[in-house]
Amino acid sequence: MDNFRRVCLLAVSVSLVLSLGFPELAAEKGRPLAESQMTAYFRDTRQELTVYHIRGKEPGPTLLIVAGVHGDEAGGYLAAERYVNVKLNRGNLIVVPRLNGPAVEAGKRRGLGGDMNRLFSLPANSANPDTKVVNLAKQLIGQADYVLNLHQGSDFYSPRWISRKRNPSKWGQCNVIDTATYHLPSGQKLELGNYAKRVVRRSNDRIPDRDYHFTVNNTDTANKWSRHKEQKGSLTYYSLYRRQKIALGVEATKSCSLAEAVAYLTIAVNAAIEEAGISAESLPAESSQSVVDVQTAKSRGLAKTKDKG
Ligand SMILES: [Zn+2]
Repeated sequence: MDNFRRVCLLAVSVSLVLSLGFPELAAEKGRPLAESQMTAYFRDTRQELTVYHIRGKEPGPTLLIVAGVHGDEAGGYLAAERYVNVKLNRGNLIVVPRLNGPAVEAGKRRGLGGDMNRLFSLPANSANPDTKVVNLAKQLIGQADYVLNLHQGSDFYSPRWISRKRNPSKWGQCNVIDTATYHLPSGQKLELGNYAKRVVRRSNDRIPDRDYHFTVNNTDTANKWSRHKEQKGSLTYYSLYRRQKIALGVEATKSCSLAEAVAYLTIAVNAAIEEAGISAESLPAESSQSVVDVQTAKSRGLAKTKDKG
């Protein structure tokens, strides 16, 4: 455990639950809602990870923030860690800053079981060593209405080819959706595309440099012509197609400083929280100057990967 994480653990005003089970919702027991709860899983193993449940004073939607699926994208977990102390007026947050602990520790994309963002299509009894971690993530997804998966991608996504660094095969500065409209069995629709567009608009209003504006990246994953069929194993695809949740992959670019990447992800997460109708006493500051945590990131966390997000 590094110093930043130690400070985080101390700073959160929490009731620490050390069981391997899931924290029961206090409201279900008729007790007052806990403000915040921190739960450690898989303790004393390489896959140890911490889940933060933050409950608002008033009921409302629940948004799950997952990061650290790819350990070489430090912006994701550093941004997610800024939310573990947030106080909410309405709605709830579940935050898992470092889902793939061994990958984060190593500063590498892959953890013990390979690329974790390809493991969400595996069965619950798979022999893959990351199955227990993926199963935990799946249970948390079940508790949420909205799901964000934070990453850093190469260069800049654009739906049309503009340059070598700005084209459809890139991943930086985009909000990834697996489809624009998801048809529920009830006949109703999840309008994922509209939500992603609103989040992008709200984010870009706060980003003066147009080169760093976010764009919606619809991978149309289930379509047989999709250029990103590998996303069928992703956390967001599972969230939408198996659990019917509104899920976004949020990708900052690697073509900026780490502090800037954390700031861009903070802008996008704040926008997603606000668009979901969750209200906080205050959300993390959005300027890169406000990001002081980056010195804790390992330099190898910035290693480039080719056209992957
Ligand atoms: Zn990634």
